[in-house]
Order: sequence, then structure tokens, then C-alpha cells
Amino acid sequence: MNNYIGIFQISPVQEYINQAKRTQDFWAGSYILSYLSAVAIETVIQESGDCIVYPFFDENPFKMVVSGKPDDPRAHDFDVLENERIGTLPNRFVAVLDDQESLKNALKQSQVNVSNAYAEIVRKVKERLKSDLKPNINPMIFNDQIWQRQNMNFFKTMWVVYECHHSSYGTDYQHAERLFGARKSIRNFDQTKGESGKKCNICGERERIHEDFWIDYSTRNRHVFRKNERLCSVCLVKRLAPEIVFETKKDKESRLVFPSTSTIAVGPAICRLIDKWAELDVQDALTSFIQKINILNLNFPRRLPPIPFIQEHSKKIDYKINKEILRWDGDVFLKDTYQRKILVDDYGMSRDIAWKKIHDCAEACTKLMEPFKPAKYYAIVMMDGDNMGQYLSQCQTINEHRQFSKNLSEFSRGTIPKVCESNFTAKVSYFGGDEGIIFVGMDDLLSLMRCLRAAFSGHLTFDADQWHVDFFSPPNPQFPDLGTACIGAVVAHHQQSLLHVIERLHHSLEEKAKQVEDKDAFCITLMKRSGGTTHAISKCVYDNCDVLQHLEQMRCLYKDKYLSDTWLYDLDQHKHAFGTNENIFSEIFRLLKRHARDECVFESRIQPIINDIRQIYNGMESMPDFLENFIQLEFCAQYLARDKQQ
Ligand SMILES: [Zn+2]
Repeated sequence: MNNYIGIFQISPVQEYINQAKRTQDFWAGSYILSYLSAVAIETVIQESGDCIVYPFFDENPFKMVVSGKPDDPRAHDFDVLENERIGTLPNRFVAVLDDQESLKNALKQSQVNVSNAYAEIVRKVKERLKSDLKPNINPMIFNDQIWQRQNMNFFKTMWVVYECHHSSYGTDYQHAERLFGARKSIRNFDQTKGESGKKCNICGERERIHEDFWIDYSTRNRHVFRKNERLCSVCLVKRLAPEIVFETKKDKESRLVFPSTSTIAVGPAICRLIDKWAELDVQDALTSFIQKINILNLNFPRRLPPIPFIQEHSKKIDYKINKEILRWDGDVFLKDTYQRKILVDDYGMSRDIAWKKIHDCAEACTKLMEPFKPAKYYAIVMMDGDNMGQYLSQCQTINEHRQFSKNLSEFSRGTIPKVCESNFTAKVSYFGGDEGIIFVGMDDLLSLMRCLRAAFSGHLTFDADQWHVDFFSPPNPQFPDLGTACIGAVVAHHQQSLLHVIERLHHSLEEKAKQVEDKDAFCITLMKRSGGTTHAISKCVYDNCDVLQHLEQMRCLYKDKYLSDTWLYDLDQHKHAFGTNENIFSEIFRLLKRHARDECVFESRIQPIINDIRQIYNGMESMPDFLENFIQLEFCAQYLARDKQQ
């Protein structure tokens, strides 16, 4: 009897996730999608037994929520979830069965159950909002027509069933993927049909819900909605679902909130503050800052879950007092926050607040934070495995495919949080299959990218919780070798529109890094406050040079003031005057020597890495505009080393 391969996918994915104004929206979008995937997968298991070959579902936390009842979303109890709150299920799955009809029926049922599960999320949010309205407001402002039109059939599903007839499973799978690709290219829906009136601030596509709701609800919940935010019901559900639908009893102590861009930006500075926690003047500054904040009576989120690395790091503080600041939002640690306009618009404070209170707070903030140099910039990283399709087409059997899915799942659920969140001031937003997105403090960007890439191909080891990367030895058998991967990264100001930053991130990965010959490359995009955007593209490894390690070494040279960045500006200015590569290279050598702090630093710190520079330079030669790109790459290290306090 022949086997049948079924491929099932939920959409829209990119549009849904990327339509985000806050990190919280961005995380919530992928979390909702992961949950809906779990409903779809569990449906097939219920209908046809365990025929899922991708993704590996057995140990996924959402399995506990939906197990045995994928068709009854009201019975889904999120209280069974532990702390693992990262969406780790991709938006598609693959099932193999020898009964075509049964497979088709199961996929059809998945479609129905996904739709019902989403409808239940929408219902819960709407009910809660209705019950929260002030009694003088007519609940009819929840125009059912808008909610219905926007949410019913919002998530589409598509699937194909392919009959296997080749000798190898991999070849059949390749054909099934091709069939699915053809199905995907037929896009038969128009989402914005019937949308008139003023549009949502986030998606810009759908009609916003009634003005009376915003006047009442958003003034009372200024931290959930900014002053002029007006959303459609789809974006509103995404904003509120974490609190209303997914928050468990365990989350009540610290809310289910994803760290904001400013929290990520100041993360490394908070770590430096923790290192000096016991010092008397630091304690004085802390006490005074908290006091001034209390006098200002600033209303801001105070019981947030800290970034995991900070939480771990703070355990070494003996002093119990003042620790509450570790659960405050990052904005509070940036003195720019203390401006009348911002306090009124973003924090809902009264316009006649005394100038002195604001001034005192700003001063106390500066006094506490200045020594630790809080950054206003953060980074976001996106990784995607290279040639996954090729890998899978080489699977000879269904079991090989299953094993591969299991390896991917171990990577996204086990390795990723361990590598990123235990070692760096980072927070994983989503990681499913071979791709994911991570927010990270600027100081940790290069090392995190390097560890991520190394972990993917098994070139990372842990020794007494210290990590080591070695791209030039055989892979570590502890980690499955998943091949090579590309990484896109964007460095942006914390107030930069997240929509825009995410658009750039996709561009950085897909249009830049993935375009490098044979892939295994990265691109770092710097979005400057002045408006300019630059890209630096490189392979991860050239000959025996680990490029990200080199950049991190350069960053430290600038940070420690061992090397002045003037060498780069000089090189940039005269880059067209040298002719041959050998001439340019001797100029690089001369400039580095001239701009090193002293002879001793040059010999001990700079000379040993000159060979890396040569390898990168030579390796890049085949790239278009390679000299410019080489300078941009070196410029990245310098940019990341700056103190962007001002
Ligand atoms: Zn919207």
C-alpha cells in the first residue's frame, strides 16, 4: 500500500507576526500561531494516530494544553504550562499515512479546529473587554459586524496530499513540497474586503474599533495602549491575548510580558550595575532614585519578569533591598524619559505636574545610571538554516525525517534558550524549526551571533558553563549537526518604529546574507538615528578566520581605547587611491600601527589579529563592492563599541 504525504500550513504568518508596534505584539503573534499549530497537529493525531513527521510534537508544552481535546478550545487550560513561554512550533506540519481518505479528513478537521480555537481567543478577549467597560458606556460599541468580518476566516489554512511512488522517501517528499509550493502560489483571498472608515494604527489595513472604547479603556490602561493608539479587532486581540487568554496563575506574580526594546537596550548596563550593587554610593544612588520615582508617582510597569540573564545574575546580590528595580521597564533608566511631554502622553500624567519633581527624577536617574552607560540602542537577530529542503530530500526513510525533526526541536527548545538566554542579555521571541528571532543588548550582539551559528552546526561546547566556539574542529557530537545557517541582524534605537526595524531585519537576512554565494553568511544592518542605514555582509568563516570573533576582538580594542577608530576613517577617505590589493593592505597595516595606543599595544593586541583582517579582506574579494563592504564590516565593530549614552 502506498503512503501519502500531507503538508498543512496556517497563514497569514509574516503579515500577522510582523504587524507589531511593540515587542509584546511581536512575541504574542508568534505565540498565538504556535498554539494554533498545536491544535492542528493534535487534531491529526486524534483522527489518524501519530503520523506526524514534522515538527517533533511529543515534548512541546502546548501538547499538554491541547492533548486529547483539539476540538474543544474552551477546555484548553494554560495553567498546565511551566515557565517555557516561547512559541516553538512552526506554522506548518507534515504527516504521512497509508490511507488517503483518512489523511484528507484529518487535515480538513484541522482546518475547522484551528478556526474554532482562534474564535475562542477572540471571544475571551471581547467578553473581558465588555465586562471591563464603565457602566455608562453602551456595550453596543463592540460592533459585532466588525469583529466578525475581521476575525472570522482571518487565519486561512492550506494543505496538499501527495501520493508517494518513488523508491526513496526523500524524492517523494521533494515532490510533495513542490506540489505544496504550487498550492501556495494560488492566493485566493482578499483580507481587506469591506474595510472602510479610519484604519488601525498598526496594520493600517483594517477599520479601527469604536472611538468610545478607546476614550474609556485606553485612558484607564495607559501601559497597554499609548495615547493615540487606535487598533482594529485583530491587532487588539493580539495585544490583549497574553494577559486575558494565556496568562496563568503562576504568571500573576510577574506578568506575561515580553521585555520592551528599552529594557533590552539597557540590559547590559543593568548587569554592570548588579556587579557594583554592594558599593555604598551605588546603594545611595539606588535609594534616592527609587524615592524620586515614588514622589513623581510615575505610573509604569513595575512587576515585569526580568530578562533571564539578569535574573540569574542578580542571584549573586546579597543585599535584598532595592532589588525591585530589576523588574522595572527599561524606559525608566533612560533620562530622556523625564520630559513633560513624554510623561503626559506615554504615562498619562497630569499636565500640571511640578517641574521640580521631573527634574529631580532625571537627576537621580543620571546619577545612578551614568557610570554604567545605558545604551539607547538594541539589536534583533534572525537566523535561518541553509538548504533545509536539500537536507530533507536526502532522507531515505520517514524515520530519518522524524529524527531530523527531533533534532530541530531539541535545538529550538533546548539549545537556543540555553545558548542565548543563559549567556547573554537576550530574550528569544520565537524559535521553531530551523528559524527564529532573538532580541539582544548591543554589547552581546556579536558573541550571541557567533554562538548561535556555531550551535547550529555543532561547533559549540560548554565546559563548566563556559561556552567555547571552534569552527575548525569536527562538530561536537553533543549537538546534532544541522548544517550551515545565515543570520540577519539590525541595530536600532529603542524608539525606532518596530514595524520598520522588522522590515529591515527580513531584508538583512533574505536580501543580503542569503544572497552570498554558498550562504553561511551574516549581515549586520545599522539603523542610525540620523536616518542613514548601512549594511555589512560577510561569510561566517574565511579560511581559518572566525569573522564574528574577529569583530568582537576589534570591538573590545575600541572599547578599551587601545585603538582609535580614525584608522577606518582614513582608510575610507583614501580607499580609491591605492590601486592594487597589496597596496591597500600595506596601508591598512600602516594605519593600524599609527592609530594603536602605543607600540606595546600594537605588538600584543593588534599584530596577532592582522592575519584575520587579511583573510577577511581576501575572502571578500569576489563580492560586489568588496572594499566598501570590508570597511562597513570593520565599521560595525567600532559602532558597537561606542557609548551611546547621549
Ligand atoms: Zn490592525
